[in-house]
Amino acid sequence: MSESPSSPGSRTESLYNRARRVAPGGVHSNVRLLGSSRFIERAEGAWLYDVDGRDYVDHLLGQGPNFLGHSPAPVRERVAAACRHGIIYGGQHPLEIEAGEAALSAIGWADLIRFGVSGTESVHAAVRLARAHSGRRLIVRFEGHYHGWLDDMLMAFDGTTWGAGSSGQRLGALGDQIVLPWNDPAAVTDAFNRHTDDIAAVITEPMMINAGAIEPRPGYLEHLRSVTEAHSALLIFDEVITGFRLSLAGGAGLYGVTPDLAIYGKALAGGWPVSAVAGRGDIMERFGTGEVNHSGTFNSSVMAMAATAATLEILTNDPPYERVETYGTALMAHFEEISRRRGIAMRLQGVPAAFHVAFGEGEVHDARSLHGLGTHERYAALAGHLVDHGVWVTNRGIWYTSAEHGRPELEAVMERTANALDAHLEAESRRP
Ligand code: PLP
Repeated sequence: MSESPSSPGSRTESLYNRARRVAPGGVHSNVRLLGSSRFIERAEGAWLYDVDGRDYVDHLLGQGPNFLGHSPAPVRERVAAACRHGIIYGGQHPLEIEAGEAALSAIGWADLIRFGVSGTESVHAAVRLARAHSGRRLIVRFEGHYHGWLDDMLMAFDGTTWGAGSSGQRLGALGDQIVLPWNDPAAVTDAFNRHTDDIAAVITEPMMINAGAIEPRPGYLEHLRSVTEAHSALLIFDEVITGFRLSLAGGAGLYGVTPDLAIYGKALAGGWPVSAVAGRGDIMERFGTGEVNHSGTFNSSVMAMAATAATLEILTNDPPYERVETYGTALMAHFEEISRRRGIAMRLQGVPAAFHVAFGEGEVHDARSLHGLGTHERYAALAGHLVDHGVWVTNRGIWYTSAEHGRPELEAVMERTANALDAHLEAESRRP
């Protein structure tokens, strides 16, 4: 646990050097540029083991997908059995019906579903479908929400305003969007008053996990529902993180508000790359008639559907939600307690299945206030100490919990977090 990742002669050091000769930045997703440059050899339950023999309690969980823990045996076995028959047919197969039926039954409100591979592309499909269905152009979306990395969705905050999130992003790609602060019903009403017949849809994470794990204020999602209905626009929930994690029926189930379309991913398939768009039959049928294009060579492959069916079977027959709630609640309380004992104000906000940690006090309700805390750099430094002490997190502040976190993980993570906080404070005290 004490060996630094760059210890001369360590396997980590050698892999780090090789990785950067193979891939830009040594990683295959820019999100991972923010993480630690350690190399994982294997994972089990809620634990990761790196190539130099260190272990970590995993609270990143692959950025969310490992809600059942790593490589859950029933999912793994179902996938292994299924792929003996074939991997991709370019035709329909019974498992995709089983997975689709299971997903629709879990979601509850949707009539039809289309599987994809990544959340990014399923968001793209949903937005295209909304524009086709409504015959309108504009999409209302919110500050701090992440909907994938494509040109017409990626956004970042430059300290003053939200705009293009990457160099090279097509100029004007975000032009058909109205970007509003979240949790502010009046801003949405105002946008509809100004653009009455031009708004195709409102897209939102039902809980803003991507910026601060902020819950909707009471009545906010209901407001989005009624204002979209009143103006014949669609309501799209981006449930890529919240789906199957906040409840079996996702954020829609937890908050009791039904959208017209929703996008799923991450927790849907026990770690396997599967995403989906689900929604009202009259809208979704536009894919079925061929009017709206949604394609993908790898959509609903045999292994993906086996993983989806097996995951949904577990989530339905042995729901982990109470266990996750018990663990996450205890973790949040312990975290607050050990920070308080050290005289540090830590802001823990969210729900037991996904919460956000930052330095500072009080709750925040929108992304600007989160940025306003101005403590990102300080948390990023703490995240480095957490990883050094065996708690796997990134510097974004999001902590995920899983069905495999229990008493041993709680004890380990609290001891390690306390040590990481001490190391962090000591490092700060040494800084000029
Ligand atoms: N939507 C939300 C809410 C997400 O959090 C993410 C990814 O983190 C995406 C969409 C994009 O999903 P993917 O990374 O699978 O493309």
